[in-house]
Amino acid sequence: MWSYRARSSLLWSICMKKFSYKLNYQKLFGKNVFAKNLLSQWSFILLVSFLLLTSGCISSTPDTRDSEDLIVACTIPPQEEFIRAIAGESNVSVLVMVPPGASPHTFEPTPSQIAELEHADLYVALGSGVEFENRWIERIHKLYPDLKVVNSSRTIPLLSGSGHGDEEKGTDPHVWMSLTNAATIVRETCDGMVEIEPGRKDLYEQNRDNYLARLNQVDDSIHDSLQDLSSRTILVYHPAFGYFCRDYNLTQMAAEEAGHEPSAQGLADLITKAKTLGITFIFAEPETSTRQAETLAKELNGTVILISPLAGNYLENMQEIAQKIAGH
Ligand SMILES: [Zn+2]
Repeated sequence: MWSYRARSSLLWSICMKKFSYKLNYQKLFGKNVFAKNLLSQWSFILLVSFLLLTSGCISSTPDTRDSEDLIVACTIPPQEEFIRAIAGESNVSVLVMVPPGASPHTFEPTPSQIAELEHADLYVALGSGVEFENRWIERIHKLYPDLKVVNSSRTIPLLSGSGHGDEEKGTDPHVWMSLTNAATIVRETCDGMVEIEPGRKDLYEQNRDNYLARLNQVDDSIHDSLQDLSSRTILVYHPAFGYFCRDYNLTQMAAEEAGHEPSAQGLADLITKAKTLGITFIFAEPETSTRQAETLAKELNGTVILISPLAGNYLENMQEIAQKIAGH
């Protein structure tokens, strides 16, 4: 177990790394934003110092939180539904690191979010190479070596190539966008929670099975609703639907190239292809800018339709996504 002092210095060094990264960025791109951001940089550092001081005070007094409360951290909002479904009526607090409206490809946690993890019992990671986890899981593990980390997609075969996420492996990180994968994630999440609270094994497993049954029903109904589509290619701005398309025999055609805005040539090719296929709808995400998607839609005399792969009401949202695809 690391001492408070060791953890403080690590958190401090993470904070300084973030600070110097910003300085390097400014050097690299020659932007004179240092003065403008000076206040926020130092506020960040002061805030971490304050949080460390207060957390030091808290740990020297008896733990005030309800010992019955299980605290589970996870990366994205859909996982909160899984954790709460497994916990059922029993007390659980969920810490979602990438909040609603943010993207796990780009989001950086606040110092207070990292400090909050001190009280967590379990971190359920997606484990599929999403950038937030690539950047932070190792650091979180070093900071809190007693925090159990579960890789909830360790048995899921990852699809290749969405062009972002784990660049080395070249795999598609959006594993949760398949209800079959979600079932695996739920099982792994439940096993992690049972390991922390073996006394609630039967309860958690019963709740897990109820949720898995609902997952199955939704999966069946999506299969039905997408069965008779005339066109089986969907045009999406961000390629988050690889697993979804695999499950329902669809093909995703994405505007983004390797996680970046498409090039002029790429865009021209895409427009030709979409016109040939008679596609007039482009699915974009509310978490990212839709400016380019709007431009693309204009070229196709079409419309942008917003669907979010990150909504917290997972099952409802997956049905809504299927309805939107089926309706166009
Ligand atoms: Zn993505």
